Amino acid sequence: MKLTTLDDWLSGVGASTDPIRGRRVFVRADLNVPLEAGKIVDDTRLRASLGTVKRLCAAGARVILASHLGRPRGERVASLSLAPIAPRLAELSGLPVAFAPDSVGKAVAARANALAEGEVLLLENLRFHPGETANEPEFSRSLASLADLYVNDAFGTAHRAHASTAGMVEHVSSAAAGDLMLNEIRNLNAIVEPERPLLCLLGGAKVSDKLGVLRNLAERADLLAIGGAMAYTFLAARNEAVGDSLVEAQRIDDARALIDRAEADRCKLLLPTDHVVSQSLDGTGETKIVQTIPDGWRGVDIGPETAARYADAARTARTIFWNGPMGIFEVEPFSKGTQEVAQAVAQSPATSVVGGGDSLAAVNRLGIGDRIGHLSTGGGASLEFVQGLRLPGLAALEH
Ligand code: AMP
Repeated sequence: MKLTTLDDWLSGVGASTDPIRGRRVFVRADLNVPLEAGKIVDDTRLRASLGTVKRLCAAGARVILASHLGRPRGERVASLSLAPIAPRLAELSGLPVAFAPDSVGKAVAARANALAEGEVLLLENLRFHPGETANEPEFSRSLASLADLYVNDAFGTAHRAHASTAGMVEHVSSAAAGDLMLNEIRNLNAIVEPERPLLCLLGGAKVSDKLGVLRNLAERADLLAIGGAMAYTFLAARNEAVGDSLVEAQRIDDARALIDRAEADRCKLLLPTDHVVSQSLDGTGETKIVQTIPDGWRGVDIGPETAARYADAARTARTIFWNGPMGIFEVEPFSKGTQEVAQAVAQSPATSVVGGGDSLAAVNRLGIGDRIGHLSTGGGASLEFVQGLRLPGLAALEH
């Protein structure tokens, strides 16, 4: 994959035809931060996005910064406005950051044209326009008309072919990957071309959501460890007792086929051999640890023996990819399995990548993020990348 980078552009800075100074640069970032009553609850994504913006501003660019926030589904939703983001970006970066109350149109274009070198104009939520997620050519052209150059730094949406991530790219004179995007690609490449053994730990609620990933990783990984509610569909496929656990009856055949295929591919499939079970999902009922799930009980977490087996696998792996919780980790009595897996990944000498909101939350809660090789900002995007799939946002940037 050959991508233009900021370094490529910056190597020409100072030349008689300086590639950046005075140019309007459209930066697609991921500023999708959690907001509560208009207040930013966690500004990690803003801090992470500033590197690219600051480098461009320092080189004399006029930066037009754009992002989505939540899912307004093509309508103006006041609670999903990016307005509160502009002052926080200014505070964090020390740069002048103005806010435009829309992302396209004459007034926005006038504001973009009036930017001075080193100034930033933050656009309103791109998804207030249905043309963004529909990747409408008209909307793509309108976005592109605001700028001369384009940078995509939003890895988390690179698996979507939207106007701001794909459609607009063909209408600008040059397009580059931002620093955050490059960092993701470099780190996730370690999973695509791993040092072996490669251990993939996958958890979460539904087999149906992750069937493609499971199939693909069964072909690539040496060990594939499954946790979360997904595991019970696999146990059902092996005719094991699952009690009242969440099972996707329509996916049992797929799970069985996957078990057979993993064997044929010489991928060792690890499934839970003991379970934390409960009769209620909110953590208030009795819980016990069992090897066979009785009727009337639900599996809510992997048991201690399973956690120890998965931790053992992490110890001997050379590369680890983990996405998805091992149980209902939001509920404290059901969070141990996920926590133990997080600790095992952190303690392993392997090259490790953790992706997905729930897994990151578990790592952050334990304060062990600095011991993980790479924390991927893109859940869905990282799952697609590690399968070797072509992400539309990256394909658009390729030469
Ligand atoms: P996903 O979005 O597919 O990664 O699934 C994440 C969700 O799966 C979390 O909200 C977990 O609470 C849920 N989950 C994990 N294990 C279980 C389980 N054993 N039973 C029900 N839900 C689960």
